[in-house]
Amino acid sequence: MDRRAALRAGVFTAAVLTVSAPVTAAAAAPMPAGTPALALARLRAGNDRWCGDRAAHPDAGAARRVELAAGQEPFAVVFSCIDSRVPPELVFDQGLGDLMVIRTAGHTHNPLVAGSLEYGPAELATPLLVVLGHQRCGAVTTAVECFRDHRRPPGHLADIAHDLRRPYDEALRLGAAPGDLVEATIRTQTRQTVAALHHDRLLRPLIAAGRLRVVGAYYSLGSGRVTFFD
Ligand SMILES: [Zn+2]
Repeated sequence: MDRRAALRAGVFTAAVLTVSAPVTAAAAAPMPAGTPALALARLRAGNDRWCGDRAAHPDAGAARRVELAAGQEPFAVVFSCIDSRVPPELVFDQGLGDLMVIRTAGHTHNPLVAGSLEYGPAELATPLLVVLGHQRCGAVTTAVECFRDHRRPPGHLADIAHDLRRPYDEALRLGAAPGDLVEATIRTQTRQTVAALHHDRLLRPLIAAGRLRVVGAYYSLGSGRVTFFD
């Protein structure tokens, strides 16, 4: 069993979290079965079903569970908020083993999260990474209210607000009106996260080689529609 096969089978090795993981080896890995374009089309199709109340709930049965017991090959990574109204497997109508999902409040991004985001593309050849912001994000709303009122959120909520300060400042700099500041911060946070991932040391060579696409997106709560940024 080679290293990639071992990882797909869930054999965890220390190398996964080693800072000096082999960039060139990852970039030189075989092309995955799915391309970034195919993966994106699959997410768009699933979201169309979700929006149209035609969810198929694929890959959810016992046969799929048994099939995956030997290993996983998710076709997309989704980095989204913890909001209970935005579960990626539902809004993209996907099932077991299809998506690798990382969720933090306001999809705030730090080195520990970055490692989780790198895992799929670098170790499983996952061809697509979506950063999914969403309408009326509670974490962003709380942070924006605290910035406006010069309050510090309690406990570790302060850490989340700290990470949202940069997109908030950028939204202000771009002239967002007070009533639009939450939405502008959400979109700016998403774009800044995508930009940071394009400079990620493990992901950058995969993007340059066409093996990975990193894209921002925005979820509208009422319609269920995911709009991709580009
Ligand atoms: Zn949220």
